[in-house]
Amino acid sequence: MLSIRKFMERFPNERACREYLFHIRWPRGFICTKCGESKYSVIRTRNLFECAYCKTQTSTTSGTVMHRTKLPLQYWLFTFYWVGSGVRCSARSIAKTLKLNYRTALRLLHNVRYAMFRAEFDGLYAFWLPNKPEFPPIVMKAKHRMVKKAERFIHKHYRRISERNRHLYFSEYRFRSIHRDSIEAIAKLITSGASTMYTIHEYRTMNYKDPYR
Ligand SMILES: [Zn+2]
Repeated sequence: MLSIRKFMERFPNERACREYLFHIRWPRGFICTKCGESKYSVIRTRNLFECAYCKTQTSTTSGTVMHRTKLPLQYWLFTFYWVGSGVRCSARSIAKTLKLNYRTALRLLHNVRYAMFRAEFDGLYAFWLPNKPEFPPIVMKAKHRMVKKAERFIHKHYRRISERNRHLYFSEYRFRSIHRDSIEAIAKLITSGASTMYTIHEYRTMNYKDPYR
């Protein structure tokens, strides 16, 4: 369930949001997204992390849908939370709650849907995309039930949607049906497009054994 109070307790300010973003992106400490180095220095005035090796500057939002955003991180996390809680979430209600104009709210929500799309992208569902590849009839038949369910979801939640953005609503349906827990959903939306798993040092020392040799 959506509880604004619960959200505000957990993310009372920008700093709490930024710290949470850092923790979710780099649970075992900073890793440079470009070269995999884990040593870094902090540029406090601009909230940037500079890699000690390649000098690339990274922020907690780079690579994510929040990159170069002018909106407070709290607004983003709140929208992630809202969407992840399973409650109907329209641009109009976002605009009203966050006191944004409608167009800004719509753009925010579309970006969040894009994060949903990236988080759970699977080539098997590409038939929903605008320039979809050809799928054999047997695949389409197998997907038929799921498509029907997705269409019912879209119809129930949204009155008018543009054809051009139809696949984003499909992504929303898919994402919501996979992630029922809102905290897990937030984490998934944050790391969508921005995760770095291992440092270069760890990678070099991993000894992978080929099971077929
Ligand atoms: Zn680096």
